[in-house]
Amino acid sequence: MLRRFYSIAASTGTTSARNANQLNNKLFLNNKTKLVDSKINFNIQTVSQSFQNSNDSRKSIEIALDAEDPINTWTKEQIKEIYDTPLHDLIFAAQIQHRKFHKPSEIQFCTLLSIKTGGCTEDCKYCAQSSKNPTGLKAEKMIDIETVKEKARMAKDRGSTRFCMGAAWRDMTGRKSGLRKIGEMVKYINEDLKMETCVTLGMISKEQLSHLKESGLTAYNHNVDTSREHYPKIITTRKYDERLETIKNVQDTGIKVCSGGILGLGETEHDHVSFLYTLATLEHHPESLPINRLVAIKGTPIEKELAENVDANGKMKKLKFESIIKTIATARLIMPKSIIRLAAGRYTMKESEQLLAFMTGCNAIFTGEKMLTTMCNGWDEDTEMLAKWGFKPMESFTGSLIDSEREAQTETAGGGAAESAANPDVSRQDPEMKQDTLAA
Ligand code: SF4
Repeated sequence: MLRRFYSIAASTGTTSARNANQLNNKLFLNNKTKLVDSKINFNIQTVSQSFQNSNDSRKSIEIALDAEDPINTWTKEQIKEIYDTPLHDLIFAAQIQHRKFHKPSEIQFCTLLSIKTGGCTEDCKYCAQSSKNPTGLKAEKMIDIETVKEKARMAKDRGSTRFCMGAAWRDMTGRKSGLRKIGEMVKYINEDLKMETCVTLGMISKEQLSHLKESGLTAYNHNVDTSREHYPKIITTRKYDERLETIKNVQDTGIKVCSGGILGLGETEHDHVSFLYTLATLEHHPESLPINRLVAIKGTPIEKELAENVDANGKMKKLKFESIIKTIATARLIMPKSIIRLAAGRYTMKESEQLLAFMTGCNAIFTGEKMLTTMCNGWDEDTEMLAKWGFKPMESFTGSLIDSEREAQTETAGGGAAESAANPDVSRQDPEMKQDTLAA
């Protein structure tokens, strides 16, 4: 059964130019026609049966690919099955899922601004902004509204469609004036600049969130950071369940959730599975899922710990790039609608590695002057890099394909059948297999 999902056939070199044009840019998945914005002419008659010889991973991937809507009843065993799928198969499946729920050529530019830097009372082991970590970073006051507006205008002019603001606070208790100012910032960026807005301000009550919602806030970021099991080794001043409670507050208020984590905190692949399990079993999956690669900052406890975490040859045990890709691909399969953001640490990745991340299901990047306290790739280099590969910027407030767009695809399936009948190259395909056709 799985075979049909992966049976992708395209017009051959013998297909007439007329049929090739007719079929251009159409991708048939699960016997439905899906419009894609690819300019590529696919000349493959039949790619597939890739999973014919797959093992136990078949079932969980099949469940993921069968789903028309996100599932939040995943078990860790199922997620592990997917995560452990041979990498080339996993990436292939993730691409199919990505094309089913998103416009595959679109990548969103987001810019993150620190509106209140340093002096945080939390003890996150990786963070330069914790007052407990001797990183030399000075605590600053909240920046003024006009500066934020100017930075947001600049981000928009350079191509960003989402503007995120972060404050190094444990929570919002007693921050009435801060909340009012942030509300003003959000209102301006949302209404005047027509950009999506996201803020990360620590733990927050429903009442405070309601104020931000009235200001037009799109999303609230609150990362779970890592797995429940690994979490106590990273943060002791805030409980994992407090994080989940904040996420619940955000969802209850009707604001979208941005929640992801950091890879490279000395965790294992089991932790990647468990981290994804937490997010994938939330009542609603996060609309936005940032994947950060740790940038170990001098003076943070994690930097010291990782330096001491060596193998038998005295080499530092590093997060493998393939583990990042496996995490992204699994996230794409089990949380199909989420926008997956390649966040901090992207500047440490080669262009080819970034491309693989996009091919695996990432569809947003942070770009700009800085990523809170770490370096960030700039707009110009990102614009050039993405244009080189044919990616287009994602507009604000479009996100994953909405239901009506996906329904339209389903309706178009009739047209796909008609085209099949008209196109001998397509109609010759094995009818039993209900071919999914990628046509040129
Ligand atoms: S990660 Fe956030 S909560 Fe943790 S210390 Fe840094 S600023 Fe504070």
